Amino acid sequence: MRARDGPRYRTGDVMGLVSIFASLVLLAGQAAATSDGRGGEEAYDARIQDARASMMADPQAALDAALAAYQAAGSPQSAAYRERTARARWLEAESLMRLGRSAEAAVALEYAVEALGVDAAPSQLRGDIVMSRARIAMLQPDFEAALAAFVAARDMFQLLDSPRGEAMALQGLGGIYTEARQYDEALNFYSRAMDRHRDSSLDLSALNNRANVYRQLNQFEDALSDYRAALDVALALNSPILNARILSNISALHVLRGDLEEADHALERAREQAPDLADSDWSRTMSGVEAMIASGRGDLLGARAALEQTFAGLNLDATPQPYLEFHELAREVFDRLGEPAAALAHFQAFKRLDDQSRDIAASATSAVVAAEYNFAEQNFQLQQLRAERLEQDVRTAAIAERARLTTFSGILALIVGLLILAYSRYRVERARKLALIDALYRDRDTRLPTSEALVHQVRQDKEAGRSTYALAIKVHRYGQLQSALGTVSAAGLLPILSERLWAHYRRDQIGVIAPGTLCLILDGGHGGAVDHQTLNADIARIKNLLSDAVEVAGIMIDIHLTFGAAANTAGTLSVGDFRHALAAVTKAEQERHLFVIHDPVGQHASLQNLTILSRLGSSLSSGDIKLHYQPKLNLHTGRFDSAEALMRWTDPSHGYISPDVYIPLCEETGQIRKLTEWSLKQALNDQANFRDAGYPIAIAVNISGALCNDRNFVNFAAKIVKQSSGGLIFEVTESAIMHDMEAALESFETWRQSGAKISIDDYGTGQSSLAYLKRIPADELKLDRAFVKDLHTQSRDRLLVKSTIDLAHHLGLKLTTEGIEDEETLKIVRLLGADHAQGYGLCRPVQSINLVGFLQRHDGVVPDSADRKAPHCPELSIV
Ligand code: C2E
Ligand code: CA
Ligand code: CA
Repeated sequence: MRARDGPRYRTGDVMGLVSIFASLVLLAGQAAATSDGRGGEEAYDARIQDARASMMADPQAALDAALAAYQAAGSPQSAAYRERTARARWLEAESLMRLGRSAEAAVALEYAVEALGVDAAPSQLRGDIVMSRARIAMLQPDFEAALAAFVAARDMFQLLDSPRGEAMALQGLGGIYTEARQYDEALNFYSRAMDRHRDSSLDLSALNNRANVYRQLNQFEDALSDYRAALDVALALNSPILNARILSNISALHVLRGDLEEADHALERAREQAPDLADSDWSRTMSGVEAMIASGRGDLLGARAALEQTFAGLNLDATPQPYLEFHELAREVFDRLGEPAAALAHFQAFKRLDDQSRDIAASATSAVVAAEYNFAEQNFQLQQLRAERLEQDVRTAAIAERARLTTFSGILALIVGLLILAYSRYRVERARKLALIDALYRDRDTRLPTSEALVHQVRQDKEAGRSTYALAIKVHRYGQLQSALGTVSAAGLLPILSERLWAHYRRDQIGVIAPGTLCLILDGGHGGAVDHQTLNADIARIKNLLSDAVEVAGIMIDIHLTFGAAANTAGTLSVGDFRHALAAVTKAEQERHLFVIHDPVGQHASLQNLTILSRLGSSLSSGDIKLHYQPKLNLHTGRFDSAEALMRWTDPSHGYISPDVYIPLCEETGQIRKLTEWSLKQALNDQANFRDAGYPIAIAVNISGALCNDRNFVNFAAKIVKQSSGGLIFEVTESAIMHDMEAALESFETWRQSGAKISIDDYGTGQSSLAYLKRIPADELKLDRAFVKDLHTQSRDRLLVKSTIDLAHHLGLKLTTEGIEDEETLKIVRLLGADHAQGYGLCRPVQSINLVGFLQRHDGVVPDSADRKAPHCPELSIV
């Protein structure tokens, strides 16, 4: 899961403010749009003015006016006809959008484009149409289309020298980055928009949007100051509805800040502004904020009364996004009032909307990533073109040089007098060739070797018979550094880092492949794969070498690095592999991984290629497949009283293969039963050894959903359970259970009767509701690590986890949190009431012999940080 979900209450800003601001933007743009009415076309102009004027307050009237304008567009033969039709259609689309009829709006807009002609010259109207297209795409939501349209609009307005249009497009881009939860970028766009152009309506939306982002980031004071500035603007515009909306936002913010007096005060002012808004979404929002305040005061009955107003007459299965936080609040209030049925209904609504909002964020993120990737790709292709041209030039120069040399020797024999001239020409050619070689092999900014130079080096390595891989090392947020320090100063960073590396690596191993990105050629790639152990060791070493802050232009800069690795199936690296390493590091940075390994086209395919699976049997007997164990901490007793068995396969020629890759393949090809039976027997053996060493712990084994309706397997597993010394826990994923619920129920009963416990794995990623789970005979929920990852920064995640824990307990289930990576998260889940915790921060999966050592060291104590570093197959992601 990405960095996400700000604080708890995200009151109706999305639903309410955006559309209102869109109207304002449009209205204020009025002056810019030309009206070219003359004589008999006055009717048309009047309708257009009507449409604009009523757009904000009465979109239906605007729609009627736009349609009338369309009728009055004049004769199709007239020169202005196309533009008139296009403008009328555009206003029709704008009003339909405000009426919530975005599909029809999209059609009207296409007519507008057609009327204008697809290849019409850039104009204000065209820019406006592209902006509308972007906003409709946002509503649908189709972020990829929206992003493309905002970028096109920005470029067009730049061309037209219309800073206002540019600012609007920049705000739109900020909106997409907000949806993608890339808040730093979003803030950047809003600020750039305000730098570009300022007027009250644009300020209003930029300030409000920026405040929303600050609120997501828990920067409440910044949010407050922006909301207040927005309120000043709204007051000056004299719009009671806007004032009321911003005041409600301010009130909700005060609740978050814990200042209930101020919250009351702001809400009162909001109500005074718009006393006659009863039964609108906005009055519901105000009631919701009132409930927040009451709940903050511990006045549960008051909160309930306000919530009843918020949800009066609404179908809880169909509420839109802005109600998400109110459902969460209602869940808590009803729970505390001892009304579980109402609490559950709101929890379900909350979960539905939360899933939806994760989907929205995911699709916005993929749009953003795709766009950025395209950009990186384009840049790379440009570099390639430049390199190819230079290479060509070098070749030509070399020929010319040879020719000169021949001329030179010939002339030497004949006319000594011409010697000096020829020689100087030769020198000129030579200098030219050297300059070209320099341009090809040295990066212009840093003077470090380029990827072409590295490739040259690799060719020599091949002759020496070494196998290598490319490791891209990117300075985190280099782009921002460039804008802060300037390109030239920022470029000073890489040579300093390279120098540190030169102490340990040969100079010709190191080059620069993109701004802010070094590349190292390292030993250890083979057969298209990167050897994980080597990679881990290399990354650890490099991080260590480069960890000290660097001084550039008098400023100390902390160095954070991201890595991307690529090897080549053919055995030698080529420029393409540097590109893959660059793509991998870009992905790693975007997804906030420490590193990503590029999967050469074939890795997946070759894995699917059954040759690997055919090795499964022999790998089991040869010991290439092992079980590792990751201990689980009992948060009540402070002891590690169980461990999860995780499969580890290190193939001699493919290196480490992730279970995420071969488990699904085994499921598809029917080999999963053999594999799981092996792991049950192995776990049983290991468990006996742990017991003999004095640790009779329970072992959790992962069971594929496919096996839950395989009678033979179910009976086999039940027999194993009976032989177990410390108890077995079967972890089955939520989605597997949902897939065939009846079969799962029956198998679970059988297993439980023989003494196993059932744990529902990856809880929260599937579509199940807790109501469903009530029917499942399970003992434990294992909350997916996606929900745990950002607990210490995201208060909304804390709420989600807390509600899940409470409801699990209501249903008599224990709750385990996985993915605990640091002490702070551990503290939080303990505080929230989780029963068990598991994660790299406590202990990585270790070999069975090492588990006993670990248990001895931590008998009754929570581990110190030493074990966190125990080297082991880290998270990996494949491009
Ligand atoms: P899972 O059941 O959700 O297992 C937990 C995964 O999270 C493991 O990945 C573990 O190494 C990783 N993990 C543990 N703590 C942390 C942490 O703090 N941070 C992060 N980022 N990750 C953590 P692994 O071993 O790669 O296993 C992946 C999946 O493969 C497992 O997910 C499980 O679904 C499946 N799997 C593994 N072993 C077996 C097996 O023996 N049988 C079956 N059927 N599936 C298995
Ligand atoms: Ca598991
Ligand atoms: Ca899991």
